[in-house]
Amino acid sequence: MKVRPTARSLRQPLLTTLTLVGFVSLAVPVYAEGPTPPKAGRVVAITFDDLPYASDGSTVSPDAAIAAQRHIVSALRRARVPATGFVNEDKVKALGPVGPRLLADWNKGLLALGNHGYSHFDSNNLDVAGIEKEVVKGEATIRPLAASRDRSIPFFRFPYNHVGDTEAKRLTIEKLFASHGYKLAASTIDTSDYLFNSAYERAFAKRNRTMMQRVERAYLDHTRVQITYYGELDRKVLGREVPAIMLLHANRLNAATIETLLGLFRLAGYGFVSLAQAQADPAYSAMPAVATKLGPMWGYRWARERQVKIDGRLEQEPPAWISEYASQTS
Ligand SMILES: [Zn+2]
Repeated sequence: MKVRPTARSLRQPLLTTLTLVGFVSLAVPVYAEGPTPPKAGRVVAITFDDLPYASDGSTVSPDAAIAAQRHIVSALRRARVPATGFVNEDKVKALGPVGPRLLADWNKGLLALGNHGYSHFDSNNLDVAGIEKEVVKGEATIRPLAASRDRSIPFFRFPYNHVGDTEAKRLTIEKLFASHGYKLAASTIDTSDYLFNSAYERAFAKRNRTMMQRVERAYLDHTRVQITYYGELDRKVLGREVPAIMLLHANRLNAATIETLLGLFRLAGYGFVSLAQAQADPAYSAMPAVATKLGPMWGYRWARERQVKIDGRLEQEPPAWISEYASQTS
């Protein structure tokens, strides 16, 4: 059975939640930059992976990357929503001079850059020296770019959220990242947006506007359900409201739906904070001590760590027709 939040938890006063999560110690009020205060004292940090542009095929279109980035960045700016964009250096290179130009937009105001590795590597297949190489080579564009505005790159997010498939490797990885001055970026809400985007890209290639709209609707419906599901999961496991961290990819589908997506969070009572503000919550002070070959969201890792029984089968899957349509070749 799904666990629903109690009316009390939904109505939890803003100040109580902020005190609990330690936000009151921040010099800048958390919501100073936000358009409207959240209804239920909930906050979410928006993050995008695979910057500058998560393309599906082997060739990357600079025009598609420019159009998507323009839309995502302007929507975030207009709504005054902080966000962190995690970059793969090989995707920057693939776009030529356009790559660094697009990233410059993520190095100002409420937007921030993060490291996602040189390539979209799977840490399960690399030893620690190989992982370190990915980290360092991943800084080639973003480190000097951030430094040019007196900024740093505080967060690294692992591709696939694979952060150590054995306990020994997990601990070594933790030490490695601390020695490079990184915090590992968490993720608490996943919508399999890459899968919906594959279907969307196929409909786009076929110029099938009706199908594109159908995919958009299915994606947004699924996202609405997942926002609720993961919020309830985290509350069940941790016994309180924790800042959520939304995992998105810089792709065509999210560019087309970003305004509605942000609206879904507002409707669910969320305000927006930066990743640094979200991860200032004590829940994120240490990585969940859970070694896994897979990349589950943090709620599942916290559940395993605390031995809270969760039936992951209750989580809604994307509709079957999405993956069927995405994988059709004709
Ligand atoms: Zn990625």
